Amino acid sequence: MKVDDINSITVLGAGNMGHGIAEVAALAGYDVVLRDIKEEFVQKGYDQIEWSLDKLAENDRISQDDADAALDRVTPVVDLEESVADADVVIEAVPEKMSIKKEVYTELEEYAPEHTIFATNTSSLSITDLSEVTERPEHFCGMHFFNPPVRMDLVEVISGAHTDDETLDVIEDLAEEMGKTPVRVRKDSPGFIVNRILVPLMNEAAWIVHSGDATMAEVDSTTKYDIGLPMGSFELADYVGIDVGYHVLDYMHDVLGDAYEPCPLLSEKVEDGDLGQKSGKGFYDYEDGEGAEVPHGEGSEDVKKRLLALMANEVAGLVGNDVAPAGEIDRAVKLGGRFPDGPAKMADDAGIETLVETLDELHEETGEERYEAVDYLRELAESGAGFYDDGSDEADDSLQFDNIAVEIREGVGHITLDRPHRLNTISTELMDDLSAALDTLEDDDEVRAILLTGAGDRAFSAGADVTSIAAGGGDAVSGVELSRKGQQTFGKLEEMDKPVVAGIDGFCLGGGMELSMCADLRIATERSQFGQPEHDLGLIPGWGGTVRLQRIVGTGRAKEIIFSAERYDAETMADFGFVNEVVDNEDFETEAFEYAQKFAQGPPIAQRYTKRAMHNGWENTDAGLEVEAQGFGLLFTTSDLMEGIAAFTSDRDPEFTGE
Ligand code: NAD
Repeated sequence: MKVDDINSITVLGAGNMGHGIAEVAALAGYDVVLRDIKEEFVQKGYDQIEWSLDKLAENDRISQDDADAALDRVTPVVDLEESVADADVVIEAVPEKMSIKKEVYTELEEYAPEHTIFATNTSSLSITDLSEVTERPEHFCGMHFFNPPVRMDLVEVISGAHTDDETLDVIEDLAEEMGKTPVRVRKDSPGFIVNRILVPLMNEAAWIVHSGDATMAEVDSTTKYDIGLPMGSFELADYVGIDVGYHVLDYMHDVLGDAYEPCPLLSEKVEDGDLGQKSGKGFYDYEDGEGAEVPHGEGSEDVKKRLLALMANEVAGLVGNDVAPAGEIDRAVKLGGRFPDGPAKMADDAGIETLVETLDELHEETGEERYEAVDYLRELAESGAGFYDDGSDEADDSLQFDNIAVEIREGVGHITLDRPHRLNTISTELMDDLSAALDTLEDDDEVRAILLTGAGDRAFSAGADVTSIAAGGGDAVSGVELSRKGQQTFGKLEEMDKPVVAGIDGFCLGGGMELSMCADLRIATERSQFGQPEHDLGLIPGWGGTVRLQRIVGTGRAKEIIFSAERYDAETMADFGFVNEVVDNEDFETEAFEYAQKFAQGPPIAQRYTKRAMHNGWENTDAGLEVEAQGFGLLFTTSDLMEGIAAFTSDRDPEFTGE
């Protein structure tokens, strides 16, 4: 089956997750059957979908028409046979009990068409065990959404021992169709990825307090303000539900052994029914107390190392067992746990050797299994490598490319599109080079701002390289792929934590203009010319232009530029708000560099959070405001803020370091 063959999706269970998944599927245009065991349950789920769709419309996230149409696509049903008669995919979200799920799958197998794929939203049960209840274990996988599905981008797509690749591919494509980011979990491993990192983190936080090594305030202050996670460890446990975390931990303990022994602090809370926010009380008191109040400045370096070491060990366990590579783990935890950086990147930054030493010391002191460094982590430490860096001292060829030139100077990572003979037009190879260069520059702490220019004095970039692109095949499928590739590659500039400047001299047309849209700021020479000529070719801007241009110049101007397909000069584009500054043709190189360098001297952490808050806020005001609040709080703990204030009061220029 291919994703295009999917028309109808049945969601089993109309509870917390089921109704959210059904809503997301309906919004993506699928016919959705929502099934629960009683009329009143399924109706409640349906009402929640209606409420949520109306909220989205109220907040202008979608139109009322789209909300109504999505609701129209949802059919509430109680009879199981009827509910799955036309299903191409069944997503199961019934209670997290093996016995209930097994019963559901036995019955389901009886009624579902032969071609139907079964996907379970279980958080902790074995995908393999569940799949073996059915007669189609190869068409069975995990599809783990995060709560609430409407807001959380991540979907873990988990392979059971029998799942075939085609099934995983289709379900990943389906997640993408639903506007989500799938991350593949290659093995049916307890906790999958995100919970495998978060749950041991909560457990270790509890052990630290239980053993008297630090207070809850110290641990949460460290987690939130020193490590920079969105919540303290205990705050997170309360938010997720202590019972939910405990349940996953208990399962890990059963399958993976004593390294996952739950701390008594957690089991006591569960026994007492103090489950966190949802019960009014957990580690913090939400009814009679102030809720989670995490103090600034009470963190401890020891606690930080200990928590980072524990997470690094989990990452190594996953990578070493081939569950997922480090980059995928980081991606999943950033999306699913809202971490500012992934745990592998944080471990590399802290130094793998230091973290292994921390584990060894703790192991010697306590004899506890959870401090035993896994083989893969020890190997990395011994070879001086990190999760991302292979530790070899060979000459750094990471910045050598065929289609672009990269130079790092005075804090600026300067990327030059280097195909002047073809007016710096964009080929797929150039996109690959650009993507790799951006990854490297993002990770290089010396680079504090990015400048993007075109080689020669005729063009920034005159658009897509039509010949190289025609070689791609030219059918509809390859067209979609090409569009996505450009959108994603250029999107990296937006997602970067560092300020990005496009320095434009000459033609900035079509795909070239779309590339420049992803920069944070644009500076252009008087002679520069802008335009989206796609309509003249019977095309549309396909590398983000239809969406991004209007965010910069407003919808009316964006439509004018795209529909007219005309050329615009730099002054006009400055009037439109697209160009931030127009400079003399002769002074371009110096001006562009100095312009970028000004931002390279800015405060990196403040810049990072400004970009993230703005980026998140485009999609979702609340998400943006939350990032803003977290970033604002974090900044109070930085030396850069002290430096900024000191410089201000003594009337000198600040020297920010990103600390
Ligand atoms: P829930 O209790 O809110 O909903 C479960 C629903 O399933 C209930 O409405 C129940 O009536 C219904 N149900 C029971 N038996 C059924 C059957 N035979 N057929 C159809 N429906 C049936 O639970 P939830 O929080 O939505 O969790 C559902 C699944 O999603 C679980 O596997 C859970 O582990 C997983 N999950 C939960 C979260 C979360 O944060 N809540 C996150 C990710 C995954």
